[in-house]
Amino acid sequence: MKKAGSNEKSRWLFARAREVMPGGVNSPVRAFKAVGGQPLFIERGSGSHIWDADGKEYVDYVCSWGPLILGHAHPKVVAAVSEAAAKGMSFGAPTRGEVELAEAICKAFPSIEMVRMVNSGTEAVMSAVRLARAFTGKEKVVKFEGCYHGHSDGLLVKAGSGATTLGIPDSPGVPTAFAEQTISVPFNDIDSLATVFDTLGDGIACVVVEPVAGNMGVVPPKAGFLADLRELTHRRRVVLIFDEVITGFRVAYGGAQELFSVEPDLTCLGKIIGGGMPVGAYGGRRGMMEMVAPCGPVYQAGTLSGNPVAMAAGVETLRILCEPGTYERLEEMGRKVEEGMIEAAREAGVPIRLNRVGSMMTAFFTAGEVSDYATAKASDTARYAEFFRGMLERGVYLAPSQFEAAFISLAHSKEDLEATREAAEEAFKGMP
Ligand SMILES: *Cc1c(COP(=O)(O)O)cnc(C)c1O
Repeated sequence: MKKAGSNEKSRWLFARAREVMPGGVNSPVRAFKAVGGQPLFIERGSGSHIWDADGKEYVDYVCSWGPLILGHAHPKVVAAVSEAAAKGMSFGAPTRGEVELAEAICKAFPSIEMVRMVNSGTEAVMSAVRLARAFTGKEKVVKFEGCYHGHSDGLLVKAGSGATTLGIPDSPGVPTAFAEQTISVPFNDIDSLATVFDTLGDGIACVVVEPVAGNMGVVPPKAGFLADLRELTHRRRVVLIFDEVITGFRVAYGGAQELFSVEPDLTCLGKIIGGGMPVGAYGGRRGMMEMVAPCGPVYQAGTLSGNPVAMAAGVETLRILCEPGTYERLEEMGRKVEEGMIEAAREAGVPIRLNRVGSMMTAFFTAGEVSDYATAKASDTARYAEFFRGMLERGVYLAPSQFEAAFISLAHSKEDLEATREAAEEAFKGMP
């Protein structure tokens, strides 16, 4: 593994990029702002490894932020994509791949009888919320602090002060009137949710949640939290939406709802179901999904939705994930990395808190338990940045922010995990 040397080419590309794209990137966290320094431009990937523009090699734990559960450029996925592309990139007419992916999703998720393909996770959640509002005739949306559901206006909202106050925009450009339709409560806090229900009871269309939070770093649901959520929403006739854009086909083939045996009304998917291509989907029971156009009045459409090349990548990815032993292997690898990290941190006397569900995990630089956004925020982000740079220098590519997950793929080898453990030992020891 090449370690030393300059980042000359990445720097040159980034200088050019900044002239023509805001911040030089097409999605903010890629810019390395949270950890300092300049982003690497990636030239290619193969299995668990990536190579940057200067030819340096890394073991990759970003995996495109979750989609690449098979690793980079899996030969069977590349073959499926090439074959589909050669037949035509897009028709704007129905194709076989859509049926195959929809069938695979419905088979994996018993709560999904019908599904609509879209092009991103953002679109999936935005559309599911629209459907929930149409179905209930109510308008308010409840979400949990620190959960991310894409960048649609109504979901880019932070908590007002106090559990039952209305949301305030998290970004300029989001109308106050939109943000006020969204109420945020602390993750893992069923009592706060009950209070919101009591106060605003009749106006609530849906509760949307990441069943395992991944966008404040990994925060698992407390025992009983999801079941309580199901019971409470059911009793109040509020639609429960699981945003499984990360967790779907990640924590189990049937997602967090399989792992924790709790069924939502609507499920949002993305990331893995596109096998690296831009895909999202939302689905649920037939009765609710038949409200979507052209069956019903809820409008939602997409020029490239169900794109045949993207469907081919998704179908092939799910086919491979179906093989026996997949999730056992991911769990086993996850446990190995977890143990290595905890041990390395302990030896170096660096307090960390490691949260993990299967092959997704976050090492928080804090001594306390991390169970919601407030406790995640207690992490020492400067220390994380230090650790991130230490790992990068040693050929391990982690997410450039404390509040993200590390993802393990089926392509990660024993040698990768061992190299990661050694890098972590050195990186922790080198910390001030
Ligand atoms: C990534 C993500 C989204 C947004 O998906 P995009 O494809 O980036 O629009 C939504 N929800 C969750 C839980 C995510 O992790």
